[in-house]
Amino acid sequence: MILVTGGAGFIGSNFVLDWLAAGHEPIVNLDKLTYAGNRANLAGLQGDARHVFVQGDIGDRALVARLLAEHQPRAVLNFAAESHVDRSIHGAGEFIATNIVGTFQLLEAVRAHWGTLPVERQADFRFLHVSTDEVYGSLAPDAPAFTEQHGYEPNSPYSASKAASDHLVRAWHHTHGLPVLTTNCSNNYGPYHFPEKLIPLMIVNALAGKPLPVYGDGQQVRDWLYVGDHCSAIRRVLAAGRPGETYNVGGWNEKPNLEIVHTVCRLLDELRPRADGRPYATQITYVQDRPGHDRRYAIDARKIERELGWRPAETFDTGIRKTVQWYLDHPDWVAQVQSGAYRDWVATQYGAA
Ligand code: NAD
Repeated sequence: MILVTGGAGFIGSNFVLDWLAAGHEPIVNLDKLTYAGNRANLAGLQGDARHVFVQGDIGDRALVARLLAEHQPRAVLNFAAESHVDRSIHGAGEFIATNIVGTFQLLEAVRAHWGTLPVERQADFRFLHVSTDEVYGSLAPDAPAFTEQHGYEPNSPYSASKAASDHLVRAWHHTHGLPVLTTNCSNNYGPYHFPEKLIPLMIVNALAGKPLPVYGDGQQVRDWLYVGDHCSAIRRVLAAGRPGETYNVGGWNEKPNLEIVHTVCRLLDELRPRADGRPYATQITYVQDRPGHDRRYAIDARKIERELGWRPAETFDTGIRKTVQWYLDHPDWVAQVQSGAYRDWVATQYGAA
């Protein structure tokens, strides 16, 4: 048994689905079901006894303690977080509560449980913390990519809260001996991605005939990784990573945001042409840049390749094609996710739902 937190979110649900599809052991999935948590992502697991879903908060130490005592997982994987930079600019309270205080409470519950285990089970236990490359700050255009040695220079409330959580995880290893692993990954894309983030936002807005909002000049550079590759990296780190180590995970795919938007448009032109025959790129509109918008992130993922033999299986071309096709094939999921909380959020961003 493993315990996954945040397993109804984008990456967490992909991880749960991939893990169980590959025939690994059962999962307890603890998720608060915030606006970003979606039970529909896990619909394919209905009736599957290998998946135990529990709605709850990682900050609820008593609940986590009960789940650990009851299920005796050999590992805890922490995906749960507030994850959207724009929301952290509008209000950082939930980011502090979940990403910092929540991670602290989770670590304390796990530490208390781990301390009760027999020595051989203590040695095999793992706490894997899923984090981001955004903790490293912004890179100059010609600077080398982030290695694990790069200093932490977070610039947004989101990345600052994730940086704090990474430090807590590190400290629980060095101070308390908890066998932790941390992964710092670049931007993910793929199925079940909430359409507040760049790629799914562009796909759903394009199909709905709405503007495709691009921040500033669109030249912000990110590294992009297909979510299935992130999940395989996490499985690899869990299986063979050295406790106390951090591993950068990336796709070797640095691209400016505007290029990403044009790629999505071109794929849609091919796979689902507009009724009037005009290219989707005509829907692109430039909007005021996000405050403190980092210009460039790039991940040096050589350590995970050298030590653990992991490399992404998808290229950007194969991954983005699969992703666009997935959204075209799942109109019900898109309609469901665009109702309710999403509609309210869009109204605060662009003035209309
Ligand atoms: P997401 O926002 O899609 O999902 C987060 C999930 O956590 C949701 O299901 C939500 O309900 C749950 N959650 C939030 N607060 C909780 C709490 N207090 N207790 C329990 N559950 C809670 O996020 P994501 O994109 O899937 O990201 C998952 C993790 O990966 C995060 O830690 C994020 O920082 C990290 N990460 C994301 C990316 C990316 O590109 N999306 C890249 C690198 C790292």
